[in-house]
Amino acid sequence: MANVKVKDLLKNEKKKNYVSCMIALHKTAEAVSPFTDGILQQLHQQISQQLGSQNLCQQQCSRTIRDVNKWCVTCGLWRQALKRFHTNPRELIWHKLQSWEWPKQHMNLVEVFMLQHWDKANMDARDLSVSITVWKKCSLFPARIFPFADNLRKSRNKLAHSASLEIDNNDKQTVFHNINQVIQQADMVNYLQNSLEIQNDMNDLENGDLFKFEDELYEILNKTNQVDKKLHTMDSKLTEVHEAQTKTFRTIANIIRALLLFSVILVATIAVKLKEPDISMASGISPIKASGETMGCLQEYSPSFPTSLLLVDYFKHHGPLVGRIWLFKLLEEELKNTKKSGVLLEADMGYGKSAIAAHITCAKEGDQGMELRKRLIAFHVCKFDVKKTHQAGIFIQRLASMISNNIPEFNETINDCLHSFNTEQCDSDPFGCIDKCIIFPLKLTNISDERKEYRLIIIDALDECYETFSFEKTSRDV
Ligand SMILES: [Zn+2]
Repeated sequence: MANVKVKDLLKNEKKKNYVSCMIALHKTAEAVSPFTDGILQQLHQQISQQLGSQNLCQQQCSRTIRDVNKWCVTCGLWRQALKRFHTNPRELIWHKLQSWEWPKQHMNLVEVFMLQHWDKANMDARDLSVSITVWKKCSLFPARIFPFADNLRKSRNKLAHSASLEIDNNDKQTVFHNINQVIQQADMVNYLQNSLEIQNDMNDLENGDLFKFEDELYEILNKTNQVDKKLHTMDSKLTEVHEAQTKTFRTIANIIRALLLFSVILVATIAVKLKEPDISMASGISPIKASGETMGCLQEYSPSFPTSLLLVDYFKHHGPLVGRIWLFKLLEEELKNTKKSGVLLEADMGYGKSAIAAHITCAKEGDQGMELRKRLIAFHVCKFDVKKTHQAGIFIQRLASMISNNIPEFNETINDCLHSFNTEQCDSDPFGCIDKCIIFPLKLTNISDERKEYRLIIIDALDECYETFSFEKTSRDV
């Protein structure tokens, strides 16, 4: 069976291109791992020498002591040293790391230079995305390689997005060009185990000579099947999100939970494996506007809340979305039919969750996301490093402001909220605030709660809003 499938697949030029590129990227990831490994080893040696001999940590500081200033001497010194080599130390979530492991082995430092919400249990240091992230976040890696690494990452993501599992000859050439730029880069060459063999493999793959890559070929076919399955279970993770949220307090995640109790549909997009989650949310409100009024990016500014934070610029840099019509169809179906109070969409890094959120928010007539765009009444973007986007008060103000733009009856019921709105007070009592400004006013309107009349609120990267500043602050208070 499988052989027939492979033969069929290779008859199609574009599918063959796709498979050659996937194998080549897989080989590239293997080939560059000694580079990642070698430079992390240098970093480890450099810090070890600088700190001299220190006792090993006996108490798992990062896990057990929330106040980093109270860590043992060893963990404290390693933390200070690692911060100096991190290109953006503000994003580090220390309690998620394993400080006691750092002095033991250089590969234990990978976690410090990864995206902080990646799932470490499923982390593969040989994944190309992990490698490239580590290169860019650790200042010991030569910056000369970044432009090539970025292009390579783009190639990898583009392939990951190809729902048809096909690419044309031009795109194939680009992928191989980007691979060669990285593996032939001067800083990289010294670290390659057998550069001649790697180069030969790449040439064979580029020429479509796949006979010696049978194992990799099957592996890729298997992975593709798994991805299909994953994307079809998109609402199954919602309970987990709820549980994760109970750990946090006074954060946007919890407010969303309060919203959910008000029969609001949640569309959440979360990454698994290499967690880079984004969340989108939809609410059960009508009526739906005529499509003519819903062209382009959703209006954020509302005269009712003139000081409300504007975030649409974070969406504007996304280019046009290609393919994935099936995903929009699936989303529409799920939103109409789910019996749950919400829907969660999850996908690995690089599947373009933010791109989808951006596309729906700014869809124009004829775009794939237009049907969802017509139902959109509000959106929010959580940015890990933009503190304002984590604040409950600002989040509620944005929702109230945009809902008032899109549901006329809502305007007549938010007087109470309007007269006394204060983002700081809202931060200190987010549940009281969301009741007063969103939930009670919505209950007073005549909007239908029929599922087919649902309205949509998109929240991109919800996970970047929790376990951050507000979480750190509050967990110390508790
Ligand atoms: Zn310690």
